[in-house]
Amino acid sequence: MNSITYPLSKDAAPPTRSLRILLVDDSEDERLLLEDELHQEGYDPTIRRVETAETMQAALSEEEWDLLIVDYVMPRFSGLAALELYRRLELDLPVIVVSGQMGEEIAVEVMRAGAKDYIIKQNRSRLFPAIARELDEYQDRLARREAEQKLGIIAKSAHDAIVMWDSEGLIKFWNPAATRIFGWDEEAVIGIDIEQILIPVEDRKTATKRFSFLATAPGEMIGKTIELSALHKQGHQFPIELSLSTFHSHGALGTIGIARDISDRKRMEQALEELATHDSLTGFYNRTELETQLRNELNRALRHQRPLSVFFLDLDHFKRINDRFGHQTGDELLQSFADLLRRAVRNVDYIGRYGGEEFVVILPETPPRQALEIAKRLVESVMAYRFDTSGEKSMTLTVSIGISALPDHGVTVEGLINAADMAMYAAKRAGRNRACLAESADY
Ligand code: GH3
Ligand code: MG
Ligand code: MG
Repeated sequence: MNSITYPLSKDAAPPTRSLRILLVDDSEDERLLLEDELHQEGYDPTIRRVETAETMQAALSEEEWDLLIVDYVMPRFSGLAALELYRRLELDLPVIVVSGQMGEEIAVEVMRAGAKDYIIKQNRSRLFPAIARELDEYQDRLARREAEQKLGIIAKSAHDAIVMWDSEGLIKFWNPAATRIFGWDEEAVIGIDIEQILIPVEDRKTATKRFSFLATAPGEMIGKTIELSALHKQGHQFPIELSLSTFHSHGALGTIGIARDISDRKRMEQALEELATHDSLTGFYNRTELETQLRNELNRALRHQRPLSVFFLDLDHFKRINDRFGHQTGDELLQSFADLLRRAVRNVDYIGRYGGEEFVVILPETPPRQALEIAKRLVESVMAYRFDTSGEKSMTLTVSIGISALPDHGVTVEGLINAADMAMYAAKRAGRNRACLAESADY
């Protein structure tokens, strides 16, 4: 890699800039003149002159050069042959052709042959700005290549998928982590539409607009991190976190997406959420979450003037079961009862474990009389059920249920639950194993 630095603008003007030039020219005077002029321009030039193909090839393969200047007409060698040799060596050096002859055809010819610039000897003053410009561009190319190499190294070792696509959404870059995460090999995806790879088919159809940012990358998405469901080569979907940024390449806008598989994090979040809102023994909502759900349903029902009922259930004489068979059997019984309760209510109903052996059920769209009928059937099915535990077979259980309804027995969470709780106590007093509507002892 070249370690010489060149002025990027005239203002920078450091004292001297070393410069290694290979001059393909038959005239030693030309070399001396160029050396002199470059000194005056503030360079510290090293100029080696060659005038045959063999010496040029040797010089190019043995040493490092910053610039190649080629004379168009030489007695033993030609400018075009020199350019041809340069091209065959596949070097990336700025080349300037100098000629005594005018002529647009020659200019076109040498540029086609790989020259960066074409200078007429009579216009020699153009040579130095041309040198400065070519060196600048060369430096830019080197810097870009270096950046691309560094990016390549980072991208190779990155844990996250790094994918780049152009303004049409066609994939231009795909790192090994992207292969690991999405399943596709690099060769299979280069040039393919990013949406085809990343977005599940049904989302592509229904929400093309939502994901069109992948191709067009509008400003508001850039710099943002979004979560979306991505498609794996194998066809399954999984959650990813995607950060987007843009880059310019050859005048066109491209997008860089950095993605990571967040399945584990999502699972953890779900587990934490589950822990925070559910009871672990039965899987029902815990007391706090049940009250939150009741608040939502109650507001909805009030807004739309729809019926809503609440059950408060308490198992009868449960302390005796614990005392007789032990706490472990008691717990298993609670789980079996929970299964039975889950099967007894509709999917739209909410069940919470309110206390040890106390449960609350929210029944949306259910008026009190209908709720009472459901509760009675539940009481009967609990009584008829033979509960099995690991220790005991065919145990029986009974339950007492209090029922309250909106708006007769309350219009708040506390009001409805208290009313149902009181009705449950009324059922206990009336002999247990029964359902009781709030403010009413008969059923
Ligand atoms: P009743 O409700 O019919 O008046 O009698 P009870 O024996 O069920 O009395 P109460 O509801 O006041 O007491 C609840 C008992 O349930 C206390 C405790 O022994 C038992 N219990 C509460 N939570 C759990 C639990 O998580 N596991 C087990 N095994 N037992 C529990
Ligand atoms: Mg109790
Ligand atoms: Mg009880």
